[in-house]
Amino acid sequence: MNDNCIFCKIANGIIPSATIYEDADFRAILDIAPAHKGHTIILPKQHAANLFEIDEETAGKLLPVAKKVAGAVKKVTGCDGINILQNNGEAAGQTVFHLHVHVVPRFEGDGILPVWPQGSYADGEAAELAAKIKAEL
Ligand code: 5GP
Ligand code: ZN
Repeated sequence: MNDNCIFCKIANGIIPSATIYEDADFRAILDIAPAHKGHTIILPKQHAANLFEIDEETAGKLLPVAKKVAGAVKKVTGCDGINILQNNGEAAGQTVFHLHVHVVPRFEGDGILPVWPQGSYADGEAAELAAKIKAEL
């Protein structure tokens, strides 16, 4: 746990929160400034700034928790869809540097999230880039 990290304190129960789920590894809480009511964030109890720092075992447990939480949020809010979002780095919109996964209820036509522009690849460019990325795995 990082003493200077607010999400470490919330995840480990030192700062109280509107908790909707807790297990040995995670706490899921209502976001304080929700995109829609029911917007939840899932926090690992162990500090990791982002996806690049989290250990594989904890990372592997995260999606099943997101699935469970998303199902409950969908049932209670009656939303039409759910976004699972996870921001890494300031450029990607991360503002709290303790990894967290957003579970955002969505309603038809709510327009609350930007849709990215649809780019394209020149002939052969996608294959070349795919090979470069693949070589780093
Ligand atoms: P990020 O932009 O880093 O992906 O998301 C940070 C999220 O944490 C934001 O949606 C923000 O509203 C939420 N947040 C920041 N501080 C607190 C807090 O003290 N309590 C809760 N419940 N949510 C917080
Ligand atoms: Zn932390």
